[in-house]
Parts: sequence; C-alpha cells; structure tokens
Amino acid sequence: MPYDKEELAKFRQSGKILKETREEMKTYVKENMPVIDVCEKAEELIRKKGGKTAFPCNVSINEVAAHYTSPPNDTLTIPEGSTVKVDIGVQIDGYVTDTAFTAAFNPEGKSMANTAELALNTAIENLHGDMPLGKIGTIIENTIKNRGFKPISNLTGHSVGRYLIHAGTSIPNVAQISLTKIRAGEVYAIEPFVTVPEAIARVDDSPEVTIYRLIKAKSTKNPHAKTLLKHIETNFRTLPFAERWLNGVVPKEQHTQAFKELLKEKAIAGYPVFVEASKKPVAQAEHTVLIKEDGCEVLT
Ligand code: MN
Ligand code: MN
Repeated sequence: MPYDKEELAKFRQSGKILKETREEMKTYVKENMPVIDVCEKAEELIRKKGGKTAFPCNVSINEVAAHYTSPPNDTLTIPEGSTVKVDIGVQIDGYVTDTAFTAAFNPEGKSMANTAELALNTAIENLHGDMPLGKIGTIIENTIKNRGFKPISNLTGHSVGRYLIHAGTSIPNVAQISLTKIRAGEVYAIEPFVTVPEAIARVDDSPEVTIYRLIKAKSTKNPHAKTLLKHIETNFRTLPFAERWLNGVVPKEQHTQAFKELLKEKAIAGYPVFVEASKKPVAQAEHTVLIKEDGCEVLT
C-alpha cells in the first residue's frame, strides 16, 4: 500500500536529518580515531537534529563489510591507510531512512569508494516505477565492473518500512533473473558494495556479534534480564540496537549476566558481522529513495 502524505513527510524529515548527519560525519572520521567516538558522534548528531537512531552507527573497516558497531568499552581505532564504511539510519515515528559512505585513507580504497558512489548514482538515475529488480542489479554490476572492480554478490539493498529496516524486498547488486518489480510509492535503500577484482566478492558471517534485535518479549526469572528486556521493547521495538545503548539500565555488576541470559533464552538475537570471504577490502555507498512513476526522489 502506498504511503500517505503524512507518512511521506515523516520519511522526508527522517532523510533530511540523516543527510545532514552523513555530510558532517564525512569530515569527522579520521585515522587513529577511536571507533566508539565515530559511533557516538553520529548517534548524537542524529538525536541533536531531532531524529531517533534506526540502528547503531556501523563502522566497518577494510574486509569487514557491514554490521560492526562498537561494543561497550571498545578500544578499536581507525587504522592508518584503511577503508572505512560508515552506515547510519534515522527513524521518525518509525519511518526509516538508511545511508552510508566510505572514508578511504588509501588510493585503492578511494577508487573503490568513488566506484560505489558511481554505481549508486547510476542506479538512481535509472530508477522508475515498474522497473524489474534484476535490471537494477545489472546496472550496478556493469558500472562496478567497467571500473575494474567487483560487486559483493550476496549483499543487497532493501525496501524499508515503518519500524522495518528490511521490509521484504531485496535489491540485488548483481544481474539476476527476477520478475519482481519496484513500484511507485515504495521506499528503498540502494547500497552497492565494491571490492577488488581478485576477491571472492561475497561475505561470510563472522563469529563476532555487536548488533542485536528483539525476538520475543519472554518472561525471565532474572529481574535484571527482565528490566533489560523491558527497556529494549520500549525503546527499540523491532529495530536493531547496540549493547552499549543499555549502559546504566541495570547495575553494572549485573549487566553481563542479564544480557547473556536474554541471548540464551532467545529473547534477543545478534546480527553477525559480515566479512569478505577472501579478506579483501570493501567500499559501500547508500541512499534511501522514494520510487516515482518516472524516476525517484532521493530522501537522503
Ligand atoms: Mn545502511
Ligand atoms: Mn541498508
């Protein structure tokens, strides 16, 4: 069902806040900076501008393609010469927008970052209502390959919705045969990922997990686990969250045990960090767009 005027106003407000935040973050990210500072800066900017974070700020470095946010007390810093994806999201009354850029501190990374931007912009210039999904993938793949790089085959863009970051439809970054079409009035995040030509160019789940989501509000015996769960339900609903966002919700000494219990009982689950299968560096660019009959409106 297409969004009404009020809903679109919320998407546009969400996108405006996110765009401003992204542009400020582009000049903020520097080599040797603590990753947790980058995460907290982006999240603070979003709140200052009147938005709510739709998910924790992802800072994914080199072969880490996506889904890394700082755990509590993270000591990781931005390595010199690295390629850093910063991926951020805003929600206004649940209406989600999603954007990303790559800060590259090496020539190859810069070239990959430019290629990801070019693939994104080329796709955006061509988007319109009733366009088959496979055609978008073809445009992205061809643009990336023409520049001598490779798209990551198993990461995709996605439809977004209210309190939903992935609302059901995936937008491929490679050519594929699909009869599914995007429709005017729908909102999508388009996000090409670029790697070097010798890479396997797909991602695997790593054992590391830094981002979580609510699965089911279950009853639990541990009163601190109960308090954490209540906080998660109230504040993040079905949207992803970081463990550091729970600082101070229960006494410090009780936190680790309570959090573990929620995971064990499957009240919450983690999103694994995605790593390029051959450990090659990855760049990304992303915008959220509203599809129109004859084009699209970039919300971010
Ligand atoms: Mn994103
Ligand atoms: Mn996305």
